[in-house]
Amino acid sequence: MKYLMSIIVFLLMTTPAMAVDQQELTFMREFFNGIQQRSFDTNREYCGFVGVDEDGYLITTEPTKGEPDACYAKDAPADFDYFASYHTHGAFSEDADSELPSSDDLIADIAEGIDGFVATPGGRVWFNDSQKKTATLVCENCVMRDPNFNGDLLDPTEKFYTVETLKQRDNDQ
Ligand SMILES: [Zn+2]
Repeated sequence: MKYLMSIIVFLLMTTPAMAVDQQELTFMREFFNGIQQRSFDTNREYCGFVGVDEDGYLITTEPTKGEPDACYAKDAPADFDYFASYHTHGAFSEDADSELPSSDDLIADIAEGIDGFVATPGGRVWFNDSQKKTATLVCENCVMRDPNFNGDLLDPTEKFYTVETLKQRDNDQ
């Protein structure tokens, strides 16, 4: 019984991180590494969709260039089978609370019924789970980081947020 309890506790503790498929995360890290520099150089968000091709391989749509703090992806082609959105957060700015998804980021994914991946200038990757309605930090310093990034100038971030706690965070900034 004690043994069983510790298994249950272990599962509960590891559940948030396991919400993201490791294969998807590896793919997204490589993909973000290909667009982070552009996002820093232009200080624009880049965004699009993640899907699966007919052979079962992960693919993305061509990144849409957005604004410094927003991005509206062009519609995916009709035959593009997507399950998630992705976007970057531009260059480091001490005035932008960009090391975590905004409440609007999570709300948009929930509204579309798709998950979401967000890469930050500090090299973090977040996963928005549209079913659970949560944002989870999946890794830190795991994608290209803006050379100008200085985390000491920002409020520390938690590793897990709901729509409510993200709204709270937005209001506090
Ligand atoms: Zn965002």
